[in-house]
Amino acid sequence: MTLSATPEGSAFDSSRNNDAAATPLRILVIDDDRFTRVLLREMFLGVGATHVREAGDGHQALRLMDNEPWMPELILCDLQMPGMDGIEFLRELAARRFTGDLCLFSGTPRPVLEAAQRLAGAHLLRVIGILEKPVSEAALMQVLSKARHAGAEEPTEPSAPHPASKELTADELREGIANDRIELMFQPKVAVRGRRMAGAECLARFRHPTRGLLGPASFVPLAEQHHLIDALTVDVLRQAAQHLSSWYDSERDFKLSVNVSMLNLHALDLPETFERIVRKAGMQPSDFMLEITESALPSDYVVGLDILLRLRLKGFQLSLDDFGTGFSTMRSLSQMPFCELKLDQQFVQGAVNDAKAMTILESSVQLGHALNLNLVAEGVETPSEWALVEHLGCDEVQGYHVARPMPAAALRSWVHRWERSDVL
Ligand code: C2E
Ligand code: CA
Ligand code: CA
Repeated sequence: MTLSATPEGSAFDSSRNNDAAATPLRILVIDDDRFTRVLLREMFLGVGATHVREAGDGHQALRLMDNEPWMPELILCDLQMPGMDGIEFLRELAARRFTGDLCLFSGTPRPVLEAAQRLAGAHLLRVIGILEKPVSEAALMQVLSKARHAGAEEPTEPSAPHPASKELTADELREGIANDRIELMFQPKVAVRGRRMAGAECLARFRHPTRGLLGPASFVPLAEQHHLIDALTVDVLRQAAQHLSSWYDSERDFKLSVNVSMLNLHALDLPETFERIVRKAGMQPSDFMLEITESALPSDYVVGLDILLRLRLKGFQLSLDDFGTGFSTMRSLSQMPFCELKLDQQFVQGAVNDAKAMTILESSVQLGHALNLNLVAEGVETPSEWALVEHLGCDEVQGYHVARPMPAAALRSWVHRWERSDVL
């Protein structure tokens, strides 16, 4: 490949099949400076990347993602660019609910990069590195090693879900829920002390007839917008209850966690509906942890509180998900009957290198202990993150370091391997 082969300002694909260490990651490099783009691309190709594309600014990158469509798994983005700058681009990524990894780089001083990283976090985007220019190959290698899809030993999902390249429509989703296209993946939660498997979180996927398995980013917000969230939640709980009854073992204390949207908390008879579903499968409400995510405020706070209290009285366990990222989490924590707090992965992952994330994590743990809540650290990906949350006193861990989400059929053999302790 020659440098002159790169058309200035156009999105350009360099696919190269090289050695065994090749990473199949789809990487997008965005920088207005052509020389930097080419250099970064060459560095990536040099360390075994096979799918690297470039864009000259945010507009071009979005065109590539929206129109081609080509969904990157790792984006490297310069902050200072004419046209659309890096900050505007982050906003656009957030609006598209981008779920891949991001690395920000710039010639600006490091505090600017750190502030941009915090802004990305506030948009719920995942930044795995910030780099000052000029970027070294060692720094790029570090970014690659942190990239979510890199180095996965065995992808436990048959095909990893990624955001739908073409948006799912509400009609497709409605039809899909009615025709059993929602499938569950299970991600283990394990106790820090003793490492016993404490339960698993049910994560929904949409089996699209032509596009494969789609992740929740492509249908949960859609379900929330089109009044399909009740049907989705009921379907997930029903399937979870059926799976649990087929695994039932009186010797084990094992709970399945099911995600419930705040927008589900509008019908006062929801506790009865949920109870009926689990009992029909021969299970008890206390076999389930309902994870409430505050992606939206409950439309009516009093109704929401009424429903949560009655779910709790029926025996369902309640967990406050993504703690620290949503709306009014402190208020919810103090006023609603939660049993568990899930510490969001951005604080868990950030804490190892970032003093502020560490402070937030530490004080969340203290708060959780003071309120007598089960504390779950989410998104634990490395031994050092495990060691940190263990040191801070978290009760349970969930994350790629323990296991990725897996189909129901894989869970039993995973548990056997875990208990023989050769998984970590
Ligand atoms: P969540 O409830 O916070 O679920 C955890 C998400 O983090 C899952 O993504 C999981 O695959 C991912 N994850 C777990 N461990 C790690 C790790 O170590 N590193 C990284 N980088 N990620 C990790 P997934 O399955 O894509 O789900 C995304 C979100 O979609 C969930 O976030 C949840 O808010 C929502 N969701 C999933 N299923 C349902 C559902 O049935 N109903 C509703 N309302 N929302 C759902
Ligand atoms: Ca959850
Ligand atoms: Ca969460």
